[in-house]
Amino acid sequence: MSVRELIVLGTSSQVPTRYRNHNGYLLRWDEEGILFDPGEGTQRQMIYADVTATSINRVMITHFHGDHCLGLAGMSQRLSLDRVPHPVHIHFPASGQVFYDRLRRASIYHAVAELVPHPVRQEGVVHEDERLILECRRLDHGVDTYGYRLVERDRRTMLPEVLAERGVRGRAIGELQRNGEVEVQGEVVRLDEVSVPCPGQRFAFVMDTRPCRAAIELAEGVDMLVIESTYLSSEQREANDHGHMTARQAAIIAREAGAKLVVLTHFSQRYQSLDPFLKEARAVHPNVVVAKDGRRIPIPRRQRTDNEAAEIMGSNRTATRALPGAQPALPPTAPPTAPPTVLPTVLPTVPPTAETSQVAGEMLEPDDG
Ligand SMILES: [Zn+2]
Ligand SMILES: [Zn+2]
Repeated sequence: MSVRELIVLGTSSQVPTRYRNHNGYLLRWDEEGILFDPGEGTQRQMIYADVTATSINRVMITHFHGDHCLGLAGMSQRLSLDRVPHPVHIHFPASGQVFYDRLRRASIYHAVAELVPHPVRQEGVVHEDERLILECRRLDHGVDTYGYRLVERDRRTMLPEVLAERGVRGRAIGELQRNGEVEVQGEVVRLDEVSVPCPGQRFAFVMDTRPCRAAIELAEGVDMLVIESTYLSSEQREANDHGHMTARQAAIIAREAGAKLVVLTHFSQRYQSLDPFLKEARAVHPNVVVAKDGRRIPIPRRQRTDNEAAEIMGSNRTATRALPGAQPALPPTAPPTAPPTVLPTVLPTVPPTAETSQVAGEMLEPDDG
């Protein structure tokens, strides 16, 4: 069964803290493994999170501040050490080519993995295939920074019982999928008669920026928005001065964009408790979680189009099996689903000692139910 989830590897801006690693986020999306902004220590955080280098087939870097890229040196070498058998595509701002080159060749190692660089020179599509489109927009951070957005193409879900009723089976199903219609016993069966729309999901990654139009565009209609909230509103001026935003501003962007689930991250080292971030953002948006190192956050499931299925079938039978389709418009987003799960353990960069256990306890507490 396919898995769609965000694995949080690190949540700290600028410098790691005792309980928060530099940034790092692995998006597992069916067979895709997209590593966003690997900061220092990402390789070790992946071990804690029980994910392998082999699970990565794409790396996306928003900009070349160290907390978003220093881990690329270690990860590049690890991909070779583990002899990852597939190409790994790496997207990064083209203006940072010199930093990319240095990180790729930071020290001596036997390079065998195939790393395919994709310098991003302008806004727009950075990759597309039959299932996914990856796009970018330029953010407002003072240095060249891109936010990314994943858009799954809309598909159609086959209705097995209707297929059976119409006598479509075996090779005829494949032909129907390929051609949009098939002839069975002298009768033409069209795809829309035996399937329902299965709208694609969307995900956005908005890191290191002041509030801007591009951030809203990236977040438009997404099922999950991972967004920086370096500061609280009490430091809004400082946030603006340093090219960042507050939890409240992040939530406003999510609300304006119609994002279903907001994941706040990239916290300044000055904050020990993240509860105020949650409180501030939840006053604006109903569905917010605070990222913590080691947390796995499922992509909220879309509601099945059972009503449409029932319409076609004349009953409440369940639709199964999706296949690529060509439905241009997304329906309205489904209501929020169950809250994300939390790993039984948070991943401390340094195991807490007796002296720090009180703070550790605070950090280990689930803060969002
Ligand atoms: Zn940063
Ligand atoms: Zn930055």
